[in-house]
Amino acid sequence: MTAILARLGVPRRINAAGTLTRLGGSLMAPEVVEAMRQAAACSLDMAELQAAAGAVIARATGMEAGMVTSGAAAGLTLAAAACLAGSDIARMAALPDSRGMPNEILMARTHRNAYDHALRAAGARIIDIGHNDRGTGAGIRGIEAWEIEAAITPATAAFAFAATPDSLGDLPVVLEACRRHGVPVIVDAAAQLPPKSNLAAFAAADLVVFSGGKAIGGPQPTGLLAGRRDLIASALLQQQDMDVSPATWSPPPLIDRNRFPFPPHHGLGRGFKVGKEEICGLVAALDLFLARDEAAWLQGLRDRLAAIAAGLGERARLLPAGKVPLLEVSVADGPAAVRRLLARPLPIHVGERRAAAGILTVDLQAVRPEDDAILAEGLADCL
Ligand SMILES: *Cc1c(COP(=O)(O)O)cnc(C)c1O
Repeated sequence: MTAILARLGVPRRINAAGTLTRLGGSLMAPEVVEAMRQAAACSLDMAELQAAAGAVIARATGMEAGMVTSGAAAGLTLAAAACLAGSDIARMAALPDSRGMPNEILMARTHRNAYDHALRAAGARIIDIGHNDRGTGAGIRGIEAWEIEAAITPATAAFAFAATPDSLGDLPVVLEACRRHGVPVIVDAAAQLPPKSNLAAFAAADLVVFSGGKAIGGPQPTGLLAGRRDLIASALLQQQDMDVSPATWSPPPLIDRNRFPFPPHHGLGRGFKVGKEEICGLVAALDLFLARDEAAWLQGLRDRLAAIAAGLGERARLLPAGKVPLLEVSVADGPAAVRRLLARPLPIHVGERRAAAGILTVDLQAVRPEDDAILAEGLADCL
């Protein structure tokens, strides 16, 4: 046990469930920790730091501008706030009260998920469109341009698109229909990494969010928001500490002073504070993520899973090359096996998505290699 965990009496756990937020997300590389350590010893202008990190994010995503948020969910709230308020500082001051401004965000019914709350938190109302034909097996049709156009009204502020390997085929239709009506498209690509090529796959959208604390391996409370310069400027203004003097305010060039002769007050995102340590840590993690040999990294995970599977016989199945290699272990009683793993002296968490069907999922992204043997022993004990 590390000293601080001993001090708190909180046990360490083995997380073979993936980079889940509730288990602390990714494990950070020493380079990331070092970047955070260096930042911790400095004072600096946070808007200037955000603008510089934003330029790195813009390059990585192929978009005009970017910023670091306190997670992808906060990125969705800021994206919605930017689409609702634009460059209007009176609207920024009013949010989340969105009366009197376009405040509807359109979503395909099939994309609705628990992170919708992040969009609503900005004051937006979500309007569902289309059917769930594919999901229910009732039919073959996805979201169509005419459905989007019929739903667009003067109250429409944005369209939100939840990116998954299954939904991607519909994105061009959404972008095309929304562009025709000047409606910005927000893409939630929080967990769409790897492959790292996906970082730049949404450059045609107006805004995109990614988690910094999942596959990128950055500090857990970070996310990337990238997109149109004017919208990122709005999001940044609504997040920054704005206790500034109008007479001496000197924001970074990203903030167009012709649009903002007066500084706004603290905005909706003032509570979504990102520290200098997190911003510098995320940039270091992004550098590592972009430089990494992805094929070799995935093969490394596959080799470790194969070694674990070797001790489990027929019950373990290495899933064929997807984005991140996974091991499926079939057990007689999924929930009972999960409880047994959690009751061990060093508790083990596995993916529970298919536990009810007797299948445990093992993901090594947040497992230290030196813990593989303990994980294998725990899994064998469940069989
Ligand atoms: C994880 C996730 C989020 C939230 O990301 P955080 O960085 O944890 O805030 C949002 N949307 C989707 C689809 C996610 O998977």
